[in-house]
Amino acid sequence: MNTVYDVVIAGAGLVGLSLAPALSRSGLSVALVDRGSMADDEHAPDTFDARIYAISPGSAAFLRAVGAWQTLRCERIAAIESMHVEGDAGGSLDFSAYDLGERALAWIVEERELRTALLRTVRRAGVDMIGDATLDALMWSAPAGTLRLADGRTLEARLIVGADGARSWVREAAGIVAEPKSYGQTAVVANFACERAHHGRAYQWFRADGGVLAWLPLPGRRMSMVWSAPEALAQTLLAENGEVLSARVAEAGGYALGAHSCITPATGFPLRFLRLPTSVALRLALVGDAAHGVHPLAGQGVNLGFGDAQSLSTVLAERGPVSDPGAPILLERYARRRAEPVLAMQAVTDGLARLFGPPTPWLKALRNAGISAVDRLPLLKRALAQPALR
Ligand SMILES: Cc1cc2nc3c(=O)[nH]c(=O)nc-3n(C[C@H](O)[C@H](O)[C@H](O)COP(=O)(O)OP(=O)(O)OC[C@H]3O[C@@H](n4cnc5c(N)ncnc54)[C@H](O)[C@@H]3O)c2cc1C
Repeated sequence: MNTVYDVVIAGAGLVGLSLAPALSRSGLSVALVDRGSMADDEHAPDTFDARIYAISPGSAAFLRAVGAWQTLRCERIAAIESMHVEGDAGGSLDFSAYDLGERALAWIVEERELRTALLRTVRRAGVDMIGDATLDALMWSAPAGTLRLADGRTLEARLIVGADGARSWVREAAGIVAEPKSYGQTAVVANFACERAHHGRAYQWFRADGGVLAWLPLPGRRMSMVWSAPEALAQTLLAENGEVLSARVAEAGGYALGAHSCITPATGFPLRFLRLPTSVALRLALVGDAAHGVHPLAGQGVNLGFGDAQSLSTVLAERGPVSDPGAPILLERYARRRAEPVLAMQAVTDGLARLFGPPTPWLKALRNAGISAVDRLPLLKRALAQPALR
């Protein structure tokens, strides 16, 4: 069976799920395909997802425009109202939403909450959703791209979008080659109940071993940890039982929130940097982690992906007399719009990860002095915060 669409999106992660209704709203026929299920998952109400995201105000506005943000349960969202950043030798920097004229620096949302809200939005938008699918082959002709599934179905579209994550099959099938570069770190994530209230404050410590420890506020007296740790330490943390892990995490953060108790199992994510020569090709566009990989120290990976989805949907909605959504002029416009924000975010996150990597004494003194100097320059601080907010 061959079905014809304007756009076929391969990959129903958060980025693909946000793009589908954004395109559908501008009158395009859209199919969304994933190897996983697209059914709603059932969860006990008193449990938390270890996978959380810091969603920037800019991404929240996009998700609201798509129709998903306003359906999130407000008791499962926490605002980051302030943030304290510490270097590995006394440097420190504070950000405050109030000072920047924002309601929040970012919103902390569990992945499963966001995923459920987006799945329902996609369903309401009339997108064809094809779950549990195995992608078999991708072929191109001048007027269309054709995605063949392992069950023999073919999906033809004027534009194929690869939203299938860091190890993108679509990217490889399109011949866009780039090897992700390992940071030699694994991010260990887990949630904790805390002795003391966090008052909407996030914490981040750049550690002497090159790792970065972040605590992000969850609703109530709970917090989510993302510890980007050198491999050996990450494996040790992942092997600890909840009690030992809680004690280590509380100690590593100087007991800023008192004692902790682990409320989710710890999970690890290997960290990789990915920069591609291009994010578009004939009748193809890449979005999200398929298009770029950044260190999670600034919590910006999915925000960059939502930025891709917003840009691509805007370019296609405003295509004027160009009726073909896969026309090269539109894809080039999309690639141009995304090049600068992606490059800037990669430069900042990769630069910080490198700056705090080597244990050279003079560099240690310099980077800590630099952090404290930025803290004394409100205009520079504001300029640094803007890209992360938007
Ligand atoms: C520890 C950690 C913490 C992070 N915290 C933050 C944060 O606070 N804020 C933030 O903005 N970002 C954060 N990120 C980054 C964020 O997780 C990613 O940028 C984001 O998940 C990418 O979404 P995506 O939809 O592009 O890809 P993915 O989430 O990887 O989704 C890809 C989808 O494609 C499907 N797929 C893959 N291959 C195939 C195939 N062959 N066939 C069919 N389907 C396929 C998958 O099933 C999946 O549904 C963090 C990352 C890490 C590791």
